[in-house]
Amino acid sequence: MKPGPILVVGSLNMDIVTRAPKFPLRGETILGEEVRFVPGGKGANQAVAAARLGADAVMLGAVGDDRFGEELTASLEGSGVRTSRLLVKPGTATGIASITLTPFDNNIVVVPGANGRLAPRDIEAAKDEFAAAAVVLLQLEIPLDAAVRASELAREQGVPVVLNPAPARELPPELLAGATYMTPNRTELAALTGEEELEPAVDKLLAMGPEYAIVTLGSEGAAWKRRGEPLRRAEAYRVPVVDTTGAGDAFNGGLASALVRGLSVEESVRFAMKTAALAVTRFGAQAGMPAFEEVERFPR
Ligand code: ATP
Repeated sequence: MKPGPILVVGSLNMDIVTRAPKFPLRGETILGEEVRFVPGGKGANQAVAAARLGADAVMLGAVGDDRFGEELTASLEGSGVRTSRLLVKPGTATGIASITLTPFDNNIVVVPGANGRLAPRDIEAAKDEFAAAAVVLLQLEIPLDAAVRASELAREQGVPVVLNPAPARELPPELLAGATYMTPNRTELAALTGEEELEPAVDKLLAMGPEYAIVTLGSEGAAWKRRGEPLRRAEAYRVPVVDTTGAGDAFNGGLASALVRGLSVEESVRFAMKTAALAVTRFGAQAGMPAFEEVERFPR
């Protein structure tokens, strides 16, 4: 992999997290206990993870011309992510996730807003950024045509693509074929391949295009396979879990940062697992992302 920045093409959301004793019944209004505004979105979370780990991370994405857009931009910059490629879509709201937490369960409504307006021409306008990048990191919270264009541009420039196929959606073959590394979790892997068992599912995924399948398995760790080589597995690090939101994002940011530093895939997976293990010991997706030194010291 040539040296250069990590170009993250993806979503930014403001998570509006309310805590309530129960969900309201149909037509009912109830009083909640607390509201928090937490920067999120898979793209932004992964960019923050990579930047905290010392990588040069550039975010290509879209916000609306509202207060949340300004706050999300400031939050990225606070973690050292470059925001010169962030677009402001006039007359559009910044993406939000409205999350209701009760003692029993959670409900989430996502409104993509400006994320849904990121267009292939916006991606093309950043062509020089693709040429400069060491790796392109993609997720699926943006329109698929924009993701496909990003993958094509990366390929044209000979830049590898890490595709985190989250949330699970049906993918056009060209997106699968354009990915060098695919990083589904267990559910996404099953949705993509129609296969529940790990190794047959990994083989099916590899047959669709990527050179490497790297599957995150939550508290069970991760498994990875390069086409034509055996499946490898690593147990998760044992940690006191506080908040697993963004574990996958920590993993992907950590993985990309390690690949860019020239580590092997196995070393990069282990580094990503350490990053994610530290992230789940803290509250908040972006707030919980560890610094490089912490990951290097871990586990003690
Ligand atoms: P999310 O959607 O919550 O961000 P995900 O489903 O994309 O997560 P997971 O497979 O749950 O991703 O987790 C990603 C990685 O984080 C795992 O491969 C593992 O290394 C680490 N991880 C997750 N949960 C735990 C845990 N309880 N203990 C230690 N490590 C964990």
